[in-house]
Amino acid sequence: AYIPTDKSEILAKRRAHFGNNLRLSYADPVMLVRGWQHHLFDEWGRPYLDAYNNVPHVGHAHPRIQAVAADQLSRMNSNTRYLHPAQTEFAEKILSKLPAPFEVCFFVNSGTEANELALRLARAHTGAKGMVTPDHGYHGNTTGAIDISAYKFNAPGGVGPSDWVELVEVADDYRGSFGRDDPDRAAKFAGLVDGAIARLHDNGHGLAGFIAETFPSVGGQIIPPAGYLKSVYSKIRAAGGVCIADEVQTGLGRLGAYYFAFEQQNALPDIVVLGKPIGNGHPMGVLVTTRAIADSFAKGPEFFSTFGGSTLSCRIGKEVLDIVDDEGLQENARRQGARLLDGLRELQKKHAVIGDVRGIGLFVGVELVKDPASRQEGTKIASYVKDRMRAKRILLGSEGPKDNILKIRPPLTITGEDVEMLLTTLDQILAELD
Ligand code: PMP
Repeated sequence: AYIPTDKSEILAKRRAHFGNNLRLSYADPVMLVRGWQHHLFDEWGRPYLDAYNNVPHVGHAHPRIQAVAADQLSRMNSNTRYLHPAQTEFAEKILSKLPAPFEVCFFVNSGTEANELALRLARAHTGAKGMVTPDHGYHGNTTGAIDISAYKFNAPGGVGPSDWVELVEVADDYRGSFGRDDPDRAAKFAGLVDGAIARLHDNGHGLAGFIAETFPSVGGQIIPPAGYLKSVYSKIRAAGGVCIADEVQTGLGRLGAYYFAFEQQNALPDIVVLGKPIGNGHPMGVLVTTRAIADSFAKGPEFFSTFGGSTLSCRIGKEVLDIVDDEGLQENARRQGARLLDGLRELQKKHAVIGDVRGIGLFVGVELVKDPASRQEGTKIASYVKDRMRAKRILLGSEGPKDNILKIRPPLTITGEDVEMLLTTLDQILAELD
């Protein structure tokens, strides 16, 4: 097989043919040509620990995914206007993971599309337009999804806020208005929604709903205080709105103790949005909702997506969820996540630049600060650590408004040895800073 080994040539062609706002990771970009489980291999065959990518949920190049994809492509691949058992089997598998009120699945091609569809459903069900959403959120790259993604519309050069969107402060109890020393912080953060709802009623848009990443990721790997989401959802419902949980990053067992992040918050949304990991790399998004909301939407024109819910997609999606169960990957996420978080908390005692360690299962953030007292964001420190980790062939990400939170979010196949290697390497690199 042809494997390009000249990175500079690829880089030059990329500059010539792609937009300049398509970002590359690392100043010296990495070229990856093979994968296996939670490992990636570059053009020279050098291995990297993939501690960042959540799309290969059950691992890169999983043989069972290869087998169902090849099998289905050898038979046929078509759309939801024809009957096929793969479609209903996939829907039943997803619904088996959700409580009773969830009955209806919509299949699309990305998390973006699923969120865009969620907006339409919320509006169809309520007859209103306005949305409430936490600051620094991200829900996708289309016009509608950008409008509810403060991370993009408020970025330099962004389109700016729309008058039908009300932002509320993200429930960050490390850095936000209400800290961990405040026992009422969940209620206080949730209370911010009241003003947002009132403003939407005043400006005539009314309330269609609330959308949030259940655990905000681009906002900085935040775990909201206990009771936050339950309280927000009850306020939104009382005002007639629909509650949308974006579980694109947090769903499908990644959290170990929970299949979906809203379970940790003891909250029940009206719409659940799934993406990224559900196709393990095959592009897919799924929206799951109640019969009542689906029926409101069904009063409008036909819903159709050419590729959403294709026979191939449904077979792959069902296989991904079966593999999570068959290989005990949710339990592995719980075990390895606990080990990782314990180890990071030990490192926090040694290295003053670790201001906070937060996470559940394999959804983890390490907030780096210039010093623990001021909590001033360690943006350059995070960039240094990420680059040095890459030099040691461990791939991590960074998040947060100041990009100072290391993001660790590996495929669920990661083992104890890999976690130990990550911790040992991170310890050495943080020591370089001392
Ligand atoms: N929601 C969240 C929380 C996401 O992280 C992303 C992707 N980063 C999306 C939606 C959009 O998904 P996609 O890029 O597949 O359209």
